[in-house]
Amino acid sequence: MTKEIFDVLVIGGGPAGYTAALYAVRAGLSCLVLERMAAGGQMCETMHIDNYPGFTETIDGFTLGTAMQQGAERFGAKTVYDEVTAVKLDTPVKEITTAGGGYFAHTVIVATGATHRHLGLAREAELAGRGVGYCATCDGAFYRGKSVAVVGGGNSAVADALYLAGICEKVTLIHRRDTLRASRIHEAPLQNAKNIEIRYDSEVTALLGDGHLTGVTVRNKKTGETEDVALDGLFISIGRTPVTALFQDCLTLDASGYIVAGEDTVTSLSGIFAAGDVRTKPLRQIVTATADGAVAAEAAAAYLVGKQ
Ligand SMILES: Cc1cc2nc3c(=O)[nH]c(=O)nc-3n(C[C@H](O)[C@H](O)[C@H](O)COP(=O)(O)OP(=O)(O)OC[C@H]3O[C@@H](n4cnc5c(N)ncnc54)[C@H](O)[C@@H]3O)c2cc1C
Repeated sequence: MTKEIFDVLVIGGGPAGYTAALYAVRAGLSCLVLERMAAGGQMCETMHIDNYPGFTETIDGFTLGTAMQQGAERFGAKTVYDEVTAVKLDTPVKEITTAGGGYFAHTVIVATGATHRHLGLAREAELAGRGVGYCATCDGAFYRGKSVAVVGGGNSAVADALYLAGICEKVTLIHRRDTLRASRIHEAPLQNAKNIEIRYDSEVTALLGDGHLTGVTVRNKKTGETEDVALDGLFISIGRTPVTALFQDCLTLDASGYIVAGEDTVTSLSGIFAAGDVRTKPLRQIVTATADGAVAAEAAAAYLVGKQ
């Protein structure tokens, strides 16, 4: 049996990946998307997207992600749900290994996005899903009427705290600095929320509970005092980190681990393009991810023509 070689193989089925796929197939190229979880990527973690143009009402990320997938598949893009575990990108035909098999392509668009950052505390992995969470909009409903805390002080943390305040009895926002980094749009809602307590200059130093989280130890960085706070849930919202472990030996990454690529999405290896949150860029949003996807597909098409 002859092996199928795709014109374009996209790793990651978020907004960047499926926009790349849409543009690739509409340019007459064969295209496979490999996605390890669900179409939509990080968008699936939010119920409310209000800044992606074209919608008169809020839209949830899962619906938008599914629509992006269907939009690409309408023109012939294919999806395989599988996790990419190894890549060989420095040969004319690129080899992509997944848990379930192997795939070949003339060009690869890396659209693996970003994922939540961990606190790095002992037993954090063990308690994940057992009281420790990273997505308030996904898991907040499990804590209806209960007491939870959010760690972080940026826009995501404050948005999570406000969202949880509508569900939970009490929300404690734990921030290591003396001011929040959230934008002004959150100020009034935060002041009006009666059930949000903010602990500034504070850090979580230990996760408590056996089998399920029952509380955390909080240390005041100014006084050095520690206190055990009883909690039903803890949401860690301290930023995101790029999903680039697969590429650290073959593509140039910046100090934070993002793939070095400009607006043209061109990486340090010919025939390999990086689109969306995974690449170096000033603004990581859906609209910039989709823009990258379109540019990357065009770049892949140009590369293929140049090669022939
Ligand atoms: C809670 C939350 C709310 C947000 N709200 C907004 C908003 O309102 N407006 C806005 O513009 N932006 C918002 N964002 C940001 C936005 O979701 C991202 O900028 C955007 O999703 C980035 O798209 P992407 O395609 O580059 O990457 P991602 O969305 O991260 O998608 C990457 C995909 O690659 C897959 N993948 C990774 N590694 C592998 C592998 N080895 N094998 C196979 N598949 C793999 C992942 O499973 C994922 O589906 C939000 C993000 C979060 C987390």
